[in-house]
Amino acid sequence: MAIHLKIDKCTGCGACVNICPGDLWRLDKKSHKAYLLSQEDCWNCFSCAKVCEPEAIEVRLPYSIAGYGASLIPKIKPKSIIWKLKTKDGNEEVFEIETLK
Ligand code: SF4
Ligand code: SF4
Repeated sequence: MAIHLKIDKCTGCGACVNICPGDLWRLDKKSHKAYLLSQEDCWNCFSCAKVCEPEAIEVRLPYSIAGYGASLIPKIKPKSIIWKLKTKDGNEEVFEIETLK
């Protein structure tokens, strides 16, 4: 898995910087956009992707799981989490998982 930033969507809110348990995100002082310090040190906890409101952070999946170029984008809802799976050819599947009773 790999964390991928779609830089054009980043608003520079800093939420990923604050939540990453590995302290791996920074905000660029000039562009005010986020950047990842080290992909290798990422624990794949996906907290940054979950907290990113504009969906600028996506999780790139290995080829063996969903084919080349597939990605997952989470969206936190009050009682669930929605995972949007996108394949390279533009197909989308949405999975909603309850988080609270
Ligand atoms: S949480 Fe998303 S929008 Fe906010 S700084 Fe990080 S990447 Fe940019
Ligand atoms: S997935 Fe977790 S460890 Fe990796 S960059 Fe995001 S918040 Fe940090």
